[in-house]
Amino acid sequence: MIVTTKELFQHAYGRYAVGAYNINNLEQTVGLFRGNLGQKNSNEEPIDPANSAPFIIQLSRGARGYTDKRFLEAMIRAAEDIFPKAVFAVHLDHGTEDVAYECIGSGFYSSVMIDASHETFDENIATTRRVVERAHEKGLSVEAELGMLGGVEEDISVDADNACLTDPDQAVEFVERSGCDSLAVAIGTSHGAYKFTGKQGLHFDRIAEIQKRLPGFPLVMHGSSSVPKEWVERINKAGGKLGDASGVPENQYLPAAKLGVTKVNIDTDGRLVWCAVFRETFRDKPTDFDPRTPGKPFMAAYAEYITHKNQKLGSAGRLESVRASLLGQPV
Ligand SMILES: [Zn+2]
Repeated sequence: MIVTTKELFQHAYGRYAVGAYNINNLEQTVGLFRGNLGQKNSNEEPIDPANSAPFIIQLSRGARGYTDKRFLEAMIRAAEDIFPKAVFAVHLDHGTEDVAYECIGSGFYSSVMIDASHETFDENIATTRRVVERAHEKGLSVEAELGMLGGVEEDISVDADNACLTDPDQAVEFVERSGCDSLAVAIGTSHGAYKFTGKQGLHFDRIAEIQKRLPGFPLVMHGSSSVPKEWVERINKAGGKLGDASGVPENQYLPAAKLGVTKVNIDTDGRLVWCAVFRETFRDKPTDFDPRTPGKPFMAAYAEYITHKNQKLGSAGRLESVRASLLGQPV
């Protein structure tokens, strides 16, 4: 069942965060759906209610251009049939105004992000406002961004010195004037695999300040992978050359959720799982050239990783009550 992010956030706010996962291909799609139902090796495994979670599929402009965006849509439609219990939003990640309009008109997306954070404050509000008007007409929800994260996202690169935290007073004005449904805030995270170096980290005081001024309003955390050392080590042992990095410690997801962070974007960690499994498979089976040989263990590893993340986000075990509240039944 495809729902809006707004509907998911109403259930999650102040209690847990919904995982927002980027996908690009079939194996990620299958692993993602399995993992959100507590399955691992097969679509036929029984659903595990304690590990079932609502989730958000994120499609970036890069993913849409990787092959043809119609493949992504068809895969997700097929997954909706194959996993009828899944409850999820389909969200455009880091949209430009034009791409946001295209997704709003597609009849497929339930949510879009308009990222005009590189524009001036007033231009960001005006651009977001235009997208909000069109999206709300069609029943979609809109995520906007205020503040600058460090790191690399799509074609925009921001170095650490230029990254700046979201100003709480500006956040209030932004939300009021733009009409957005959720706001991505810069609170110390950064995009990509090379995250915190040394003293950087999540600024809980800043999140609390923003929540105080915007009580009940859903906040979004981008660049929230944890870059687990074990995955980096597995990759490097299998011939990779990834440098040192550390991301958001997983035990910080829930404290952030309690302060109003309802959506946590995780992309890099999923890429690490992909890279580790494929590298290890090719290293250990040098005579094998079947695409399914790495694909199969990857789907299982990705599903397991999604379930693990949902446990850390507090969304694991929430699927049934989300479904009940969406259908207007007592929880
Ligand atoms: Zn982002």
